[in-house]
Amino acid sequence: MKSVHIVGAGPAGLMAAHQFALKGYSVNVYDHKSAPARKFLVAGQGGFNLTHSEELELFLSRYDSQEIQSIVREFTNQDTVHWLHSIGVPTYVGSSGKIFPVKGIKPIEVLQKWLSTLEVLNVRFLFNYRLIDFDLKKLIFMTDNGMEEVLYQRAVFAFGGKSWAITGSDGNWTSLFFKKGIKLKPLEAANSGLEMLEPWQDLAGKALKNVYVFNEFGSKYGEFIITDYGIEGSAVYFMNRFLREKSFPQYIYVDLKPNLTHERIIDLLSSGKISEVLKNKLHLEPVKLALLKKLDKATYIDPGLLAYKIKKFPIELAGFRPIDEVISTYGGVDWEELNPKLFLKRYPAIQCCGEMLDWDAPTGGYLLQACFSSGYYTALGIPES
Ligand SMILES: Cc1cc2nc3c(=O)[nH]c(=O)nc-3n(C[C@H](O)[C@H](O)[C@H](O)COP(=O)(O)OP(=O)(O)OC[C@H]3O[C@@H](n4cnc5c(N)ncnc54)[C@H](O)[C@@H]3O)c2cc1C
Repeated sequence: MKSVHIVGAGPAGLMAAHQFALKGYSVNVYDHKSAPARKFLVAGQGGFNLTHSEELELFLSRYDSQEIQSIVREFTNQDTVHWLHSIGVPTYVGSSGKIFPVKGIKPIEVLQKWLSTLEVLNVRFLFNYRLIDFDLKKLIFMTDNGMEEVLYQRAVFAFGGKSWAITGSDGNWTSLFFKKGIKLKPLEAANSGLEMLEPWQDLAGKALKNVYVFNEFGSKYGEFIITDYGIEGSAVYFMNRFLREKSFPQYIYVDLKPNLTHERIIDLLSSGKISEVLKNKLHLEPVKLALLKKLDKATYIDPGLLAYKIKKFPIELAGFRPIDEVISTYGGVDWEELNPKLFLKRYPAIQCCGEMLDWDAPTGGYLLQACFSSGYYTALGIPES
């Protein structure tokens, strides 16, 4: 019987395990934590957004590299929905197009259903196994009982990125890869909150909705939340990619009234008492009014200057949040180190998948989708048993 050893029991590793098991392989899954898929469960805490319902070409355009797009094309968002149904997890499409397990199914139940499916397929789990080295023939683990060597015919690495180290995704594998001369892009914060030089602590917890966030490199329509250190939320996470172009401190800007032009706002502001126009004609919500109150008086009372700030309210940023707190990391194994089937060129019987590969995507289900797809991809082309 053919065998595969999979290291990393996150969604990418579990999907690889599932596919190899369906194809008749004997599958061992190793993880240095004492339980599987800890980050998968963390992802479930804020709404378990498993993928997105967008039409495929638009969906694929959310990923930053051709390589990951080709992989997702082989196991798409629709495939994820079918697969979830196959393991007993019906889904629904939320108002934003995001796909979730139907209400009432908790993240832990999704995982349990998946693990039960793997159990039926005889997938074996070995926990508290930390991969500390490997060569062309063997994997070397540190276990509770000391070092253990495992000979392999085929292996899959799915070590994850470098945030939420408590879940097991500590990024320590990067030093091992570095030692072996496998080229990596440094793991950096992605989908991260932003720290402000002077946070608006008095407004912490308030949401700014229906705004454009932008800088000279790009923009995003949506919403974000003010926190005691800065700002968080989907529009802010999306902007991460445009902030890497420059060093901190730097500015991003908010268009507080996207549906009105600068000129129209000046006209309205000139038509009456400023505070009343802001409230009754521009219909700005209290949090936006509170932001405008932070401007100096000369700006606040001048329709031209105030209109300019309404369309381009500046936020001075100090940096990303600490990497351990962010939703994902970008960077990872350089695509040049992999062949088209995700085998490491220097270790031709080892494949890599999941967040440890060098790709980036926004929140909205795209992250888990790429992990499912790349896990699936490791067994692609092997005939069903
Ligand atoms: C707060 C939060 C919310 C999120 N929400 C969403 C969401 O709603 N939708 C979405 O699409 N994505 C979301 N994500 C992202 C998503 O959870 C990750 O992208 C995904 O879990 C990555 O899967 P992975 O299998 O590649 O790696 P991981 O899930 O990180 O798993 C890697 C595994 O490898 C193990 N490992 C690491 N090194 C070793 C070693 N040396 N030896 C043995 N085992 C090792 C780890 O213990 C871990 O179990 C969220 C993430 C966070 C932190």
